[in-house]
Amino acid sequence: MLDTLGNLKRTHYAGALRATDADRDVVLMGWVHRRRDLGQLIFIDLRDRTGIAQIVFNKEQHPEAHAKAEHLRSEYVVAVEGRVVKRQKANPEIPTGEVEVIATRLHILNNSKTPPFPIEDEVNATEETRLRYRYLDLRRPKLHANVELRHRIVLETRKTLDELGFFEIETPMLTRSTPEGARDYLVPSRVHHGRFYALPQSPQIFKQILMISGMDRYFQIVKCFRDEDLRADRQPEFTQVDLEMSFPTQDAIFDVIERVMERACAVAGVNVQRPFRHLDYKEVLRRYGSDKPDLRFGMELHNVTEFFAAARETLHIEGNVQAVVAPGAAAWSRKQIDELAEAAKSAGAKSVYTVKVTGDGISSSLEKTLGADALKKMCDAVSANPGDVVVAVTSKDQIPHSDTSLNVAGQVRLYLGNKLNLIDRGRWEFAWITGFALFEWSETEKQWVSAQHPFTGIVEEDLDKLDTAPWECRSKGYDLVLNGYELGSGSIRIHRQDVQARMFKALGLTDEQARQRFGFLLDALTYGAPPHGGIALGVDRIVMLLAGEKSLREVIAFPKTTAAQDLMADSPSPVDPAQLDELGIAIKETQRE
Ligand code: ASP
Repeated sequence: MLDTLGNLKRTHYAGALRATDADRDVVLMGWVHRRRDLGQLIFIDLRDRTGIAQIVFNKEQHPEAHAKAEHLRSEYVVAVEGRVVKRQKANPEIPTGEVEVIATRLHILNNSKTPPFPIEDEVNATEETRLRYRYLDLRRPKLHANVELRHRIVLETRKTLDELGFFEIETPMLTRSTPEGARDYLVPSRVHHGRFYALPQSPQIFKQILMISGMDRYFQIVKCFRDEDLRADRQPEFTQVDLEMSFPTQDAIFDVIERVMERACAVAGVNVQRPFRHLDYKEVLRRYGSDKPDLRFGMELHNVTEFFAAARETLHIEGNVQAVVAPGAAAWSRKQIDELAEAAKSAGAKSVYTVKVTGDGISSSLEKTLGADALKKMCDAVSANPGDVVVAVTSKDQIPHSDTSLNVAGQVRLYLGNKLNLIDRGRWEFAWITGFALFEWSETEKQWVSAQHPFTGIVEEDLDKLDTAPWECRSKGYDLVLNGYELGSGSIRIHRQDVQARMFKALGLTDEQARQRFGFLLDALTYGAPPHGGIALGVDRIVMLLAGEKSLREVIAFPKTTAAQDLMADSPSPVDPAQLDELGIAIKETQRE
């Protein structure tokens, strides 16, 4: 028999009780976290959003409540009336450990099946089970804390941007394609058969139009949708802090974001130094082998191609050879070195060479091919010391106009930084990356494509090269990076219609195609568009880093798997044939490979 809530009101949260509450009469409500039956006494840990309180049912003092408590099981929902008393022996493990509640009445509000995994932070359940029973998974204190942290960060961001004069303005979800380099999620129209809305990959065009509308400063905490092959740190729908400003200098935008990040970090107890450093794209690629460098440790890359000059043919070397110095790795076992080589190969290395430096000299399988002299010179050039291992790599893939060996070495650097414990987890190294190229070559499309999106501004002096040498055009784009992650990217935009039209042409669009896809923007740009620029930051990533989590799924209430599925709601799912009919859609029987 279940009780009803009736007019019963909660007086306290379970996790809030302290010694100062002793002798108070309280009403608590929540879930049975654990139950111990000692015969005369039954103990339950009662859990709510704030924590756990110990409840005692005493057979002698309150026989009725005690008898009812015998029926309790894990995750039953209860209301307990009782009196707070000081415990004889405090439990220092929990914040409420100095007190317990002597129950006078128990209301059993609902029962529960035995959950498939215990509601505890250390769960053994597979992620699939956790996601299938997400409502139970979300009961875990750690996920509660992550959800709360996310709320506080978003709230603080809204406050900060409001104080800086930004308006939060909603933009449509049912819209048309906004190119951000991914596939669109399409929504068929019932009213207009054969036509589709696209879910926004970002509010990019709308926010630019808001600037043309004179809104001056816009922001939005907004969902974006990108249908791409998922990687561990991507979700098909994700949240951005999106913003745009009129008449901005690059520094003005940076200043806004630095303030936003400073306050968001403070919410998580992380102190941030403003202003953030500025680094050039080519420079970070050369030094760290990444456009989102982890600046919490050194281990910079060295181009050692020259030392391999004599042996290029023998060693079948293509492209450059990049090296990093792994401090202390001379003590590594054969197995550890093999694992390193394995990691480098899966990062795209064609060859991995290691040179061990010890007090007795240098040892490497390269000695035969390069000669001891050249090896010694290389070790001196990269400042390797006894105890170190020099790790040199070449890349398997060679791509025109880019040095792929840098990316491979960059990943080897990260691998070594982790393995050798060189990363100071207490450091928060923000940096702005600027100096990006406007275009990158797409092998699949055999065409120059936007490195960011086609609305990114062009450095004025490079305008003339737009039609003749696009690869030389520099962009007005920038990225914000933190500890090896890209937090967001943005740019000063193109605000002249003629330049935007030339840009579309450079991207291989005919006038007709440009008009058909972006005519409304091209038109809007002819009616007094102010210079403008902005940025979007990834909320999920920011919260993930500040929560100290490794997966985005730990900071999103209802995330999707890497196969883009919601295992709890079971989506995507088949639909009723009648619905398809209404939409004028027939499903092709395709052969699934
Ligand atoms: N729309 C861009 C993005 O989603 C950000 C921007 O340029 O403001 O990455």
